[in-house]
Amino acid sequence: MITGKNYIGNEQSATGSKTYSTFDPKLNMATEWNFYEATEDEIDAAATKAYNAFQEYKNFSGSKKADFLIAIAEEIEALGDELISTYTKESGLPEGRAKGERGRTMGQLKAFATLLKEGSWVEATIDTAQPEREPFPKLDIRKMLFPIGPIAVFGSSNFPFAFSTAGGDTASALAAGCPVIVKSHPMHAGTGELVSSAILKAADSTGMPDGVFSNLNSSGIEVGQQLVLHPKVKGVGFTGSIKGGTALYKLANERNEPIPVFAEMGSINPVVALPSALSENGTEWAKKYAGSITLGAGQFCTNPGLILGIKNTSLNQFIEVLGTEIEKLEPSCMLHPNIHNNFEKGKQELSTQDGTDVIASYETAVDPNYGQQKVLTVNGSDFLENPKLHQEVFGPFSIVVQCANANELTDILHQLEGQLTGTILGDASEIKTFEEVVDALQSRVGRIIFNGVPTGVEVCPSMLHGGPFPASTDSRFTSVGTSAIKRWVRPVSYQNWPQQSLPDALKNDNPLHIMRIVDSEHTNSKID
Ligand code: NAP
Repeated sequence: MITGKNYIGNEQSATGSKTYSTFDPKLNMATEWNFYEATEDEIDAAATKAYNAFQEYKNFSGSKKADFLIAIAEEIEALGDELISTYTKESGLPEGRAKGERGRTMGQLKAFATLLKEGSWVEATIDTAQPEREPFPKLDIRKMLFPIGPIAVFGSSNFPFAFSTAGGDTASALAAGCPVIVKSHPMHAGTGELVSSAILKAADSTGMPDGVFSNLNSSGIEVGQQLVLHPKVKGVGFTGSIKGGTALYKLANERNEPIPVFAEMGSINPVVALPSALSENGTEWAKKYAGSITLGAGQFCTNPGLILGIKNTSLNQFIEVLGTEIEKLEPSCMLHPNIHNNFEKGKQELSTQDGTDVIASYETAVDPNYGQQKVLTVNGSDFLENPKLHQEVFGPFSIVVQCANANELTDILHQLEGQLTGTILGDASEIKTFEEVVDALQSRVGRIIFNGVPTGVEVCPSMLHGGPFPASTDSRFTSVGTSAIKRWVRPVSYQNWPQQSLPDALKNDNPLHIMRIVDSEHTNSKID
């Protein structure tokens, strides 16, 4: 049942007077649920509980934390239809998407549990002593990764499950050994409360300390700001706008003790259509891209917002088919009136820029909050001169850039801001022919795709979901896949430390049976 209260660890709390409701974008009206915005005292209580919980939780074994993560997945599933109907009501997204995203979220939690049970992720590295070394004896030094402390997680509007309350940031932080305080996304606070109740049930049944998880409601930026400034919070995970992510990044760096902010933000995900892709499969790619641009009402961080090609008749044909296919599709409901208004504003602003022409624009009247797709085209030189055209329009929108030649295309790629993904469409031999284009694209992105669409992010250890700024605030890390755990840990070296007092991962007899680097060799053997 949705109560509208905050969770301060295991306790429900609603001491504030400020309330707000979530919104049903399909019915274009507020939902029946009222949420109590967290007060300063409640924020402090959540951070203090998290900090106290950390002293115990950080020492839990991988298998104990794994049991917790698996129990969260099971409790989320046990919420059944109530969770799915709350999600669809608060997001306007269809039931199939809700169920798919729930499955992905449970899968992520279980993937981290597997990682913890296997255990080698702590990167245990041991250099044994060489007392006889000349001219100085070598000391025994052993290093591994340790959790950094309580993490504030800002869920995203566009993934109410997979990038929110129990999403990738929370799952990876809990796996690392860090308690989590979620700043609930105001657009789906009911979904967030239900998922929070599942996390706390799981915490209770698996013996986790009170404060390992808290959920704070808020409909403005103040709660998030206080959380990031709280001295007991030691890291931040964020998915959302460039404006929000950079504001929190700056705030965290202005603290007396600056803390890391891992923000995954905007991206227009450039797609380079090389000549053979358009001459041999132009129609097929146009149809696929019409689907990718409009998938989920274009509300994916990997939405293809920019398609670049070199002027010729095949590019003209591609543009024509893309236009026809895009206009055939029925618009979908967007997440919230604010997101829809931003989309309309962005679409309007870019459509009035010099040199742009409309390829496709869905003009038939639609219900409120439905996003009418639009695709523009522009010459490479106009695009190069106008940074406004490089901005993300969050929704079913894209621009096809017609470049004069490969040099202009390369110049454009060098000028783009950092991106989550970049895609090459073409023949494998063209990777060599267009080496400079491919190299320019690779230098701007976190994931480079060949002959595919950027929408759809596989959750697996080799995935990199991040990229140079502003795609993310730290391109060395990913927010998807099990490597996401590396954001919440720091290495510590033990020098000359007694065996019995070392963490298990660093002991000579390797009681966890994990892979380690011992004297520069990968091994899971004991040290004799
Ligand atoms: P958002 O505005 O960035 O908000 C995300 C979360 O951060 C919310 O909980 C918000 O709190 C909080 N927040 C934002 N600015 C803050 C600040 N200065 N200080 C403290 N907290 C702050 O993103 P959104 O609500 O998900 O969507 C808005 C727009 O973001 C979209 O229209 C779209 O352009 C973009 N977006 C992009 C992606 C992407 O992956 N590229 C994904 C989602 C959204 P409050 O809402 O309570 O203020």
